Amino acid sequence: MQDSDFIEGLMSFVHSSPTPFHAVEKMVAILEDNDFQQLLEADAWGLEGRSGKFYVTRNDSSIIAFTLGSNPIEHGFRMVGAHTDSPCLKVKPNPEISKNCYFQLGVEIYGGVLLNPWFDRDLSLAGRVNYVNDDGNVGSTLINFEQAIATIPSLAIHLDREANENHAIDKQKHMPPVLMKMPDCKGEQKPDFRDILLRLLANQQPELKVEKVLDYELSFYDVQEPAVIGLHQDFVASARLDNLLSCYTGLVAMLEADPKQNCLLVCSDHEEVGSISAAGAQGSFLKSVLGRLCTTPENLTRSMDQSMLISVDNAHGIHPNFADKHDDNHGPILNQGPVIKVNANQRYATNGETSAAFRYICEEADVPVQSFVVRSDMACGSTIGPITASELGVRSIDVGVPTFAMHSIRELAGRWDAYYLYRALREYFQ
Ligand SMILES: [Zn+2]
Repeated sequence: MQDSDFIEGLMSFVHSSPTPFHAVEKMVAILEDNDFQQLLEADAWGLEGRSGKFYVTRNDSSIIAFTLGSNPIEHGFRMVGAHTDSPCLKVKPNPEISKNCYFQLGVEIYGGVLLNPWFDRDLSLAGRVNYVNDDGNVGSTLINFEQAIATIPSLAIHLDREANENHAIDKQKHMPPVLMKMPDCKGEQKPDFRDILLRLLANQQPELKVEKVLDYELSFYDVQEPAVIGLHQDFVASARLDNLLSCYTGLVAMLEADPKQNCLLVCSDHEEVGSISAAGAQGSFLKSVLGRLCTTPENLTRSMDQSMLISVDNAHGIHPNFADKHDDNHGPILNQGPVIKVNANQRYATNGETSAAFRYICEEADVPVQSFVVRSDMACGSTIGPITASELGVRSIDVGVPTFAMHSIRELAGRWDAYYLYRALREYFQ
């Protein structure tokens, strides 16, 4: 795939994936276009001795895609992991707020949101809705308002003279987005949020004949489209680059996998909140799928001994205005290649062996590579690498492209780094 097609595809994927549910739906569409067959966890798979291309989802928000080309017990799997979720604002179960003639929605803060950039953005809402239809059947569907339907206005500086010196954000009081001015100011005509969802469904998906919305998992997102920016078009600016950039890159690299290899891509939900859930990396999903492919505990252990996992999640590039936040010798630069993340305290799964393997892959793919170690006087983040490594006992490495503004509503990556990463992962899968 050429660089220009790759970057267009990446931006379109991120834009059409405002939630993990939508990301998985989009990945499924791409996999099906490339002849991957769907497996259901409820079915018997009977894949022993077979080759082919398959995928399976859990909770509509995590996905595992794999190719079988040789005996997985003897040859193991080449695995890539990433996560589908991003920090955001999620609508509470009883969200309706009427205050000073305005209708707002109460929100929970999901993950480590960088809150300031959420103010003064044009926000829309998307996610999964559970409903009962005319025939009394319960179901779920994905929705997306698509248009900007809300905003969180800043307080004017005249009313907060210290805003630039110390501006603390109260997560409960300051974050509910404003959706509309109400027709009456007593709050008597306050809309019911589930009715709003019902009307949207009647419009967008009338064939479902939804009678009542029972529940939902919905989050706000910025409607601004991703863009390539900079005087020389050096950067990609977008929401959710952490970690949809890695999901997309792993996916398109996998489409070019050598059919004689066993390759696997796992993209899990709930990384931003610790990965402990049925669909998260610390849940049973990956282990269960691998267990079914290897059939006995001994076979699984043998297979994992022949396998490797590249856990891909964005890294922190050294920011010219805050350069002292990095170790002098470990400040990754945007557009100088993917970053190997190392932490002696095992917040990253990288060891010398896996790091050497990745360096060699990058060399073969003619891709530059960098290293990141957090400053010794600062705490280190973590990701799905150490979790998966400890669950499976598989040799693993944490890598990712360097970015700025991680967990902002608009993050920034190097325009070339995702393409470098794609070339490295393609080399690995081949
Ligand atoms: Zn991440």
